[in-house]
Amino acid sequence: MKCKKCGYELKDEWKICPQCHEVLDDKNRVNTKKLEDENKKEITKKKEDNKSNEYIGAYLLIFFLSLLLGIFISEIRWICLAISFITIITAHIKLPNSKVIKVIFWLYIIGIIIYILYILFILFLFVKYIPEFLDSLSSCPG
Ligand SMILES: [Zn+2]
Repeated sequence: MKCKKCGYELKDEWKICPQCHEVLDDKNRVNTKKLEDENKKEITKKKEDNKSNEYIGAYLLIFFLSLLLGIFISEIRWICLAISFITIITAHIKLPNSKVIKVIFWLYIIGIIIYILYILFILFLFVKYIPEFLDSLSSCPG
């Protein structure tokens, strides 16, 4: 405990600060242990934040690299897209507090949903119009 007025180190049983003669109740004592604990907590939190920032950087690097490779090199497209998919899901699970990861994760999921809808739409058109197309071919004279 310290005196809140002058900062003198106090013993718990003292009623008056020997340095500034402040009458001490709980309000006039600063609980130094509590402060130290809070400081330590803050420092650990900062360290953790720094660490997770490094992880975010690494995840994003792998994600964008594999995504770009997948888009531009058709021979390894599906492997690269799978890697980017696994990377962003892992990042989302391991770093649930990161806003950047969260945004990219949901954009990616929305992208996949749109892609699947697009494929379904194409399939739908294909199934719907292929009989007419075949009909028109067979009815074409010559
Ligand atoms: Zn004092």
